[in-house]
Amino acid sequence: MIDRHLAAEAKAAARQLAAIAAAGEEGRVNRRLIRGLAEEGLLPRLFPRRAGGTREGETSAVDLCVVREALGQESTVAENAVAIQTLGAYPIVVGGTDEQASRFAGPVARGEAVAAFALTEPGAGTDAGALALRAERDGKGYRLSGTKVFISNAPDADIYTLFARTMPEAGTKGITAFVVDREAKGLSGTPMHLISAHPIGRLELDGVFVSDDRVLGEVNHGFRLAMRTLDLFRPSVGASVLGMARAALDAAIGHASSRRAFGRPIKEFQAVSHQLAETATRLEAARALVYSAAEAYDGGDEHVARRSAMAKLFATETAQQVIDVAIQVHGAVALERGHLLEHLYREVRAPRIYEGTSEIQREIIARDLFRR
Ligand SMILES: Cc1cc2nc3c(=O)[nH]c(=O)nc-3n(C[C@H](O)[C@H](O)[C@H](O)COP(=O)(O)OP(=O)(O)OC[C@H]3O[C@@H](n4cnc5c(N)ncnc54)[C@H](O)[C@@H]3O)c2cc1C
Repeated sequence: MIDRHLAAEAKAAARQLAAIAAAGEEGRVNRRLIRGLAEEGLLPRLFPRRAGGTREGETSAVDLCVVREALGQESTVAENAVAIQTLGAYPIVVGGTDEQASRFAGPVARGEAVAAFALTEPGAGTDAGALALRAERDGKGYRLSGTKVFISNAPDADIYTLFARTMPEAGTKGITAFVVDREAKGLSGTPMHLISAHPIGRLELDGVFVSDDRVLGEVNHGFRLAMRTLDLFRPSVGASVLGMARAALDAAIGHASSRRAFGRPIKEFQAVSHQLAETATRLEAARALVYSAAEAYDGGDEHVARRSAMAKLFATETAQQVIDVAIQVHGAVALERGHLLEHLYREVRAPRIYEGTSEIQREIIARDLFRR
């Protein structure tokens, strides 16, 4: 069920933290913002008690959507901060033991540590099952060697949930999930410069030792854990862009009401008002899809992968259209540097690529349709 109180809390927290969010250094993790999001109670609300949070039950996809949609409307920077903290920690919450959840995810929930999710490699993006970063047995642990790219929060993050190959040539069946510390010997990183409201970077691992107590779930079952995490997150990517699109639509409604041309407000031209009517309708449809997918995740629906993919696909493509229409309704003013819509136009692009491109979402949906 959608918790409206939680949405209001998230918006209030974003407003409270606006100055701290704006003061962040480009390309670096804004630790003050993350601490603030924890102190405002928002981050702990998204983690179960056993993982340092305040939730009575387990992780909820619906609550994650509520928070990300509300933050997306107010502040993409705060939204991204919550998204990556939770994305980095949820494989531990979902796949780790109680001891691992409390030890590794607890500090993330409290805003004391910064998390990241490290799956993508130079030779494995959409085809994540082809990842090559090696994990070789060494005493009571593994030695990890290889490269990760496009990792949100890298290289500043304190802990990485990192997916590595424990069995050569076994495809998706030879991957294991590990928790890797920033301080680990042999780990280095460099920032990358992308159109993004959060820092992102590359990681090099040169024989990094990871002990057995940092293996998440079963050895060689890490790919399933990564996909389970993405099933949980994909509706929430949709929710976050819907928040952004809602902000764009509100701005367009305001502008269409006040801007005059040919002696009248431009909302009186049907070419303008009907574009807004159309996008408002699509937005509502996308929202219904997002929350129904999140409910499917929380309810353990067997077609959750398909429904999460549908939600992410439709919401991210729709949000891009809505923001584009909002710019058209504004005219040139929306393209001025620093304008809300100029900002949203840049921010809405990456979500059609990360956590699975639109093309691979269609592939997931198609595969499920033809599954016997
Ligand atoms: C802002 C941002 C943040 C990110 N954060 C993270 C992160 O925190 N952690 C992480 O692990 N990764 C992260 N990524 C990486 C992201 O997940 C990958 O970029 C994404 O999975 C796509 O991989 P790729 O860029 O290598 O594209 P490629 O896999 O090279 O794809 C290129 C094109 O081929 C298409 N294509 C490929 N295979 C198929 C197919 N079977 N059917 C149809 N089309 C196909 C794709 O859809 C795409 O259009 C981030 C990316 C961005 C942009």
